[in-house]
This record gives sequence, C-alpha cells and structure tokens, in this order.
Amino acid sequence: MNRLLIQNGILIDPSQRIFEKKDLYIEDGIVKQVEDEICEIPEGTRLVDASGCWVMPGFIDLHVHFRDPGLTYKETVETGCKAAAAGGVTTVCTMPNTKPVTDCVEVVEEILEKAGKAPYTHLLPIAAVTIGQQGKEIVDLAALKEVGICAISEDGRSVMDSGIMKEAMRRCAQLQIPIFDHCEDESLAGGCINEGEVSRELGLPGLSRDAENAMTAREILLAESTGAQLHICHVSTKESAEIIRMAKAHGVRVTAEVGPHHFALSDEDIRREPHSKYKMNPPLRTPEDVEAMKVALADGTLDAIATDHAPHSAEEKTEDLQHSLNGIIGLETSFAISKKTLVDTGILSPMQLVEKMSTRPAQILGIPKGTLSVGSCADICVAAPNETYVIDDQFYSKAKNSPFIGWKVQGRVKMTILDGRIVFQDGKITEKEDLA
Ligand SMILES: [Zn+2]
Ligand SMILES: [Zn+2]
Repeated sequence: MNRLLIQNGILIDPSQRIFEKKDLYIEDGIVKQVEDEICEIPEGTRLVDASGCWVMPGFIDLHVHFRDPGLTYKETVETGCKAAAAGGVTTVCTMPNTKPVTDCVEVVEEILEKAGKAPYTHLLPIAAVTIGQQGKEIVDLAALKEVGICAISEDGRSVMDSGIMKEAMRRCAQLQIPIFDHCEDESLAGGCINEGEVSRELGLPGLSRDAENAMTAREILLAESTGAQLHICHVSTKESAEIIRMAKAHGVRVTAEVGPHHFALSDEDIRREPHSKYKMNPPLRTPEDVEAMKVALADGTLDAIATDHAPHSAEEKTEDLQHSLNGIIGLETSFAISKKTLVDTGILSPMQLVEKMSTRPAQILGIPKGTLSVGSCADICVAAPNETYVIDDQFYSKAKNSPFIGWKVQGRVKMTILDGRIVFQDGKITEKEDLA
C-alpha cells in the first residue's frame, strides 16, 4: 500500500473554504484524513515536511497545446506532461490542432495511449468541433464522448458559419459536452491586431478586438438559445469581459478563462521591446484591458486561469516579430506569474487563486477534482509562497518561447503529487521506473 503524510503545510482548499495549517494523509491515491495534526502514522508511510508551504489541490489547465501527433518537434505528450508536473499542474486539457486534427476516435485513442505512458499529469483530450477544423462537417460527438474527450473546441479559429456552430452547440447540449471557444470572427480579423494601438504602429496582422468581441457575443447568444455549456477561451479585451459579465447576470451557462500573459503583460511591452516572445493570439492588449482582466478575475466574471501553453521551436520563434508564429509556453510559470501579478498585489486572495487554477476548472469540466476533501483523489501541488527566484530557460517543455524568462518571482512549486505519488520534487521529475 502506498502511504503518504504531508505535514505542517498550510492547506488551501476552496472547496472546503480551508486556509489553515493541516496535515494530510493519503492512502493509495486517495485523501484519507485531513486533521490539524495527524499523530498515528501507519508503518511504511512516506513523510513530507511541508512547513511554510501551501498545500493545494493540483492545478487544472483547461487550455494547452501538446503538438502530438504530428508536430512533435515542438512538444510531445511526454514532454508536455512533464512540463505540467513541473508547474504543479495535475490535469491538462489538450487542444485539437494536432496533425492530423484531433477530430476522430483514432486520434483521441492515440493521444490517450501516449498519455498512459507519461504518468506525470492527467491528460484530457479536447476534440475539434468540425472535421479537420474546416468549419463544415461536425465531428461524431457521441463516439468521441464515448472514448473520453472532455470538451470540443475549434481552438485557433472560430466556426464561422453560425448555423453550423448552432447545430454543434445543440448536439453538445444534448450530449452534455462542454464547448470551449476561441472567439475570432475571421471577417474582422484582418488588418491590425489592435486598431489604433501599438500593433498598428508595428503593422502586425492578427486578431482585432472587434473580431474577438463580435464572436464572443455571437457564441453567448447561441449558447443561450441552445442551452449548451459554453466556455470562452483566452479572454483579452475589456469589452469581451463585459459581455461575459452581462451574460452571467442573465443566467447564460457561460464560463471564461484568461491567460497569465493577458493580465501580466500589455502591448506596452511590445512597444518597449518588439520581440516575438510577446506575439500570441489573441495579442497583448492595452494596459486598460489588462486592468479589466484583473477586475473580471476578482469579481468572478473570469472563472479560470489557463495558459494556452503553445510551444514552438526556436526557428519558428525568432526575434523577427513579423514572421514568427503566435504563442508562448506557460505551464511551468503559470503559478509564479499569477501569484506575483494577482496575489502579491492584493487583487486575489490565495484562496481565490487556487479557485481559478484548480477548483473552478474542475467544476467546468464536471470532474471530482479541485478539492482535497476526504475521499478525493490525491492530486496535489505543494509550493513555497515566499521562495524568491528568477525564472530561467530550463524548462521541461521542449520549447523556450516564454516572455517570463528573467522575471523575478516569489512562489515556487516544490512538489507535485499525482494520485498519491510524487511525480515532481525540488526541480526534478521522478523517473518513470520509480512511478511504475
Ligand atoms: Zn485560441
Ligand atoms: Zn490555444
């Protein structure tokens, strides 16, 4: 029997409204006891001293790209899962823009088989909305649900035909599959990223704020009329946040996520340093938008923090802002950047941060995680909230395209526990043989 006792840590569990010193006893992957102090320790129990550390339900990242199958020079299921573990992330949802596109049972099975061989984090595949992400023929939702997808999403683009999107939502509502939505009206996407803003000065093409806002509004209206469970990906504009706020007030079944880069960086950073590490889609917006993201996180309009972890090779992510690809990695820096930007500044409490990184994402997925109550699965992140360090480029991800290299942060993930087993400790991933 596999026994683990985490002692003297500060338990932060939004599901039980606990923020105090507790011991946590785990047996065969299940939380068995949560007490102020556990003194009767069964023989053979591995002890973990978590003095001064936060003990939190493992983070759940609703939005990552692992590039596998097909683009494995950027990332693989194996390296992506290791990056997750190093970031305290115990469940990831992988987006379907693989090669081939994750739009059928065979590709989902291939991903799940690879995930089975990478026991560092739980992986839940997201399938595309339409075959080949072509926006025409809706995928076989029932078959995909059967094989284990957690949601569908056309991430990277929107389904432009409103009729097809409405039909997809209608089927999702019927089968109770969440739909994750990258909001980008392609007819408005051309031109400049931020009309009248820094990106226009630089002449960068991309997702205009109109393109994001208009599509956010359409998707919410369609979700209201079909009853689908809609989740808006990577919100970046103040208008989008306001539309979601109003929709929630009207009782629409909508949730939303924001990436750390959209509350930690703004287009002022590109102006200061025109570098491709600041190039992503949606792009960095104005300081005013950044403030709006923080307000929306604090008031609950934005439910979750998700990284949109998007690995690229060094060749694809050169200093050349014009020609480099969109996207940055985020799994290994998400906790530290979120804590620095939101908690150390008093915008969110530690409890609210854990809510955004674990408890709410679990609720959005409808899975019994994001909690450390007795009987729940022992997916845990132990972090030292006061440890100060500078983020370097030594990532478990294959990629290094992070704008946060060189940032001084306070808060380091010390240990990640998956199903009661330590998969990451003091900077090192546990060898696979030792996990078998
Ligand atoms: Zn996207
Ligand atoms: Zn994405």
